[in-house]
Amino acid sequence: MNKEKAAILIDELRKKLNEWAKEYYVLDNPSVDDAEYDKAIHELINLENQFPELITLDSITQKVGGSISDKFEKYTHKYPMLSLGDIFSWEEFLNFNKQVAKITDTENNEYTAELKIDGLSISLIYKDGILQNAVTRGDGKVGENVTNNVRTIKSIPLSIPTKDELEIRGEVFLSKTEFSKINEERLLNGEQLFANPRNAAAGTLRQLDSQIAASRNLDGYLYYYFNEANPINTQMESITQIKELGLKVNPETRICKTLDDVKEYIDYYTKKRNDLDYEIDGIVFKLNDKRLQEEVGYTAKTPKWAIAYKFPAEVKETQLLDIFPSV
Ligand code: NAD
Repeated sequence: MNKEKAAILIDELRKKLNEWAKEYYVLDNPSVDDAEYDKAIHELINLENQFPELITLDSITQKVGGSISDKFEKYTHKYPMLSLGDIFSWEEFLNFNKQVAKITDTENNEYTAELKIDGLSISLIYKDGILQNAVTRGDGKVGENVTNNVRTIKSIPLSIPTKDELEIRGEVFLSKTEFSKINEERLLNGEQLFANPRNAAAGTLRQLDSQIAASRNLDGYLYYYFNEANPINTQMESITQIKELGLKVNPETRICKTLDDVKEYIDYYTKKRNDLDYEIDGIVFKLNDKRLQEEVGYTAKTPKWAIAYKFPAEVKETQLLDIFPSV
């Protein structure tokens, strides 16, 4: 393909993707499914790789998330909230590990394996033991202050037993059971149904009326822990600390000491994913050692020490919308 043709295609893809990203991140109402979005963004990434001179700073491939709603007070993140690079096969995992090995000098890297919950990122800021702020990822630098809604989530404590200033991050989500309940009620009330639990959770968390959030049983699994006064050394320690403070962590999280462990975890949860009462769209592998993480570093959009292994789209399970096709 020549450069002129590529420029036209890139422009078309960016326009389409920007529109879809707005529907997804800002309006919580996507018009296409994730597989279609992912196909288009990977097409764009491939074209930009072929013609790097056509990459612009405002390209969707260079940005985290979408724009921020004016409905909420804005909050500037102390540490950026990044996205994750994604891969779709075992071969791609081996390539990722080889990139990491260039820095760590070994292909025997230790990773945490965490289920990739299909919810939305949240950052919780505790000061003097009290939950002060809860903020969405937004564009990665500035998020929306949704503290009033997060305070209604039963599994997120309003106070914790330490005075250290902490930032704890994770995923807020709706269980499949809750999602079905909400959509059944909406169907009875003649309201538009949510497309999936992720959009229902995002639509709930980004409501101005906290009573609505309080009436829907949002839940949260936390996985990142920032404590400048008492820093920790590994990702697994983050999980342990968070759990000790009384917040919820995903019980399926494991350490993978070898590549065989990684492969086993992928195979197991590829089969088991539909048995869980919450949606996952993949598995996140993170280099366990924090010092090595910093050495491996970051791109503008993602950490280079972590990767999201995405499940194949065809395994995606039936949504309530499929059960009520006439709506
Ligand atoms: P992402 O969702 O693929 O990965 C990053 C996010 O993973 C993090 O922000 C975090 O919230 C989440 N996550 C869940 N569990 C985690 C864990 N254990 N550790 C770390 N992070 C964890 O990336 P993205 O940039 O937020 O969005 C891309 C996704 O959104 C794609 O799946 C895409 O299909 C979807 N999307 C869909 C549409 C659409 O129109 N259908 C539009 C935009 C984006």
